[in-house]
Amino acid sequence: MTSPIDLHSPLALIIDDDATFRVLSRMSLEQEELRVEEATSGQAALDFAASTMPDIILLDLQMPDMDGFTTCRRLRQLPAGEFVPILIMTGLDDIDSIAQAYEMGATDFIIKPCHGLILSQRVRYMLRASQTLTALRDSESRLAQAQRIAQLGGWEWDITQDRLEFSDAACHIVGMPPFSLMNQPHTAYLACVHEGDRELVANALRVAAKDQTAFELNHRIAHCTGTHRIVHLHAEPLMNEGGSAQRMLGTVQDMTDEQATEARIYFLANYDNQTHLPNRGLFLHRISQAMLPGTGSSTIGAIVVLGMDRYHRIGDLHGSGSTDHIMRVVAERLQQSLSEITTIAQHAGRDAPILARLSDDQFAVFLSNLSEPDNAARVAQGFLQALTRPFVIGTTSLTLSANIGIAIPGSDGLDPEQLLRNACTALQAAKRKGANGYQYFSEAMNTTIATRVKLEQDLRIAIASNQFILHYQPKVDILSEQVVGFEALIRWQHPTRGLIAPTEFIPVAEEEALIIPMSEWVIRSVAQQQRLWHKNGLAPSLVSINLSGLQFRQRNIAQQIKGLVFAEGGRPQDIELELTESVLMTDASSTVTILQELKASGFRLAIDDFGTGYSSLAYLQQFPIDTLKIDQAFIKDLKLGKGDSPIMRAIIGMGRALTLQIVAKGVETRDQLAFLRLQGCDTYQGYLFSKPVPAHELQHLLRDRFSDEASRRMDRSRHRFVS
Ligand code: C2E
Ligand code: MG
Repeated sequence: MTSPIDLHSPLALIIDDDATFRVLSRMSLEQEELRVEEATSGQAALDFAASTMPDIILLDLQMPDMDGFTTCRRLRQLPAGEFVPILIMTGLDDIDSIAQAYEMGATDFIIKPCHGLILSQRVRYMLRASQTLTALRDSESRLAQAQRIAQLGGWEWDITQDRLEFSDAACHIVGMPPFSLMNQPHTAYLACVHEGDRELVANALRVAAKDQTAFELNHRIAHCTGTHRIVHLHAEPLMNEGGSAQRMLGTVQDMTDEQATEARIYFLANYDNQTHLPNRGLFLHRISQAMLPGTGSSTIGAIVVLGMDRYHRIGDLHGSGSTDHIMRVVAERLQQSLSEITTIAQHAGRDAPILARLSDDQFAVFLSNLSEPDNAARVAQGFLQALTRPFVIGTTSLTLSANIGIAIPGSDGLDPEQLLRNACTALQAAKRKGANGYQYFSEAMNTTIATRVKLEQDLRIAIASNQFILHYQPKVDILSEQVVGFEALIRWQHPTRGLIAPTEFIPVAEEEALIIPMSEWVIRSVAQQQRLWHKNGLAPSLVSINLSGLQFRQRNIAQQIKGLVFAEGGRPQDIELELTESVLMTDASSTVTILQELKASGFRLAIDDFGTGYSSLAYLQQFPIDTLKIDQAFIKDLKLGKGDSPIMRAIIGMGRALTLQIVAKGVETRDQLAFLRLQGCDTYQGYLFSKPVPAHELQHLLRDRFSDEASRRMDRSRHRFVS
């Protein structure tokens, strides 16, 4: 009994019109555990193979309808028929046909009749050979695919004959048609090499052939399209048994994309994408190169750092694309300005100024070979001058300002990092002085910076550990001398320095955005205080809170403040929000919307420090403002009938015309009060009545007020009774 044949066993197709031969062949093959199918004619075999290509075909040459030659040729034309092993079976008398059968694609032949064992051995051998060939073909195709992916091609050079053999893939990489570098002298390849690299490649081949050494190098290929590719050429000598190399094997790989990617990565890591200027890292590297001993570092140099003002505001107002555009224009103008200052800096080779973009809003230039340190100031002035021309975004024209800090190698440090830090410190000093200036670094600045850094650190701790208190300054009705409200003013109870005034820490809090949590604390504390007064049976009092510019421009500020007030049980109508004139006039059009939202939430609104900024009267009319607080500078200079009184009169007159409540700040003398009363000012605030005081002192003041009112009411009723 024969064991059942495995379905995965190789499938043999016997094509023969002779039934006896078919049966005998089948028996031999099945004993070898092959699956067997039979076809009685060429056409039947083709039909079968079209749907199922067997693993081996046994083909009789002499058949009545379609002979074995035609069948063999047509089998090879089938989609999977190219590589199937075909064993031709022919009689001894027909031995001449064998050559013809090979031409038609036969793999092997056998003379029939033949012994079953010989047939099965032959078939098994052919199957094994076929499997090996299939595996080889697979591996070749995988290799070719891998080479295609890696853009890699192989080549061989017969050194003694000077004959090249380039694979199709290699030809493709160097931009040549297939076979064009077959049996060619090595100069045929050199002809493809970019002429700038030709000598390099020729020399490498020459030396490698002479010394029998390997080499690899990158060079350019000039494609006939006019483009250049960059290839990596790798060559290794192939030693014969005697130890000498007559051949050289190699690969050629297209590196153009890799090189482009590498170049892009290098660019992104070292340059600013917008302006294409070196970034901070490359800038520092180049400075350290320029300052190396023996590179002219003994000559005078300078690091000039320029900081643009209001960088983020540009994006907020005109969209983020606008900042990119403007910074590109800034870079162009700085370049232009540098190239104009030929008398100061040498512009050749390593002495050329190094311009860089350090961060979003900071540029820097390293100048070498200055005749004296003061010349850096001329570069700085040139920069500032170049930026005075307006910048155009669409239809809008924008004027920007900048500040500059300068550090001199040697006196201000030797290390590029330290020099840059010092130039930035000088920039901060210039900024604090006001817009559009430059400043040389001095050691004293570092002390100031250290103090500021300490203040900032302490401020963060103060916020976390709640070291703030509020003082309240009464606002007084000028005619009745009654307290009509208070202004909440923050103070910092510093653990070692005692009480610190807001003028010292508010600017730092603003710069570091610490003003946001600080202001939230103020709003919550005021609302809590009002609730406490209410609980103690005191009448509600209007309290003014100062809002910073940063806070005012926060998204949903109206909702935020309302939420804080409600959370503490307070009421928006008991709170007046004070905004300085300069905060309101920065982007006045969006100010109107924010003010309207705050007003709709129920808050009263005041313009603080009125008269110090540049209020547009047109906008002033649009702002839904309740109160105008006249800056105390005007009050200070006030002398009855003299000095600035016409301005005061004008401000008060305008406020009254706009039906605004007018508060005069910083009233210290009776004369000032008398003048204000005469001019029709409603309310005042100042040391004359009270300094800002803690809430408990105020409570006493409130109580006094109510008892005053009560006694006045009693006086009035007594008077009525008497009359
Ligand atoms: P401001 O809003 O103009 O507040 C009035 C300032 O004038 C207060 O100074 C007050 O003490 C002072 N002052 C009042 N009457 C007189 C007077 O008769 N003579 C003189 N010479 N000064 C008087 P303070 O408390 O030092 O506050 C300074 C500034 O700090 C405030 O100016 C305000 O802009 C800011 N500030 C205070 N508290 C806060 C706050 O909670 N948040 C914000 N964002 N800023 C605040
Ligand atoms: Mg104020």
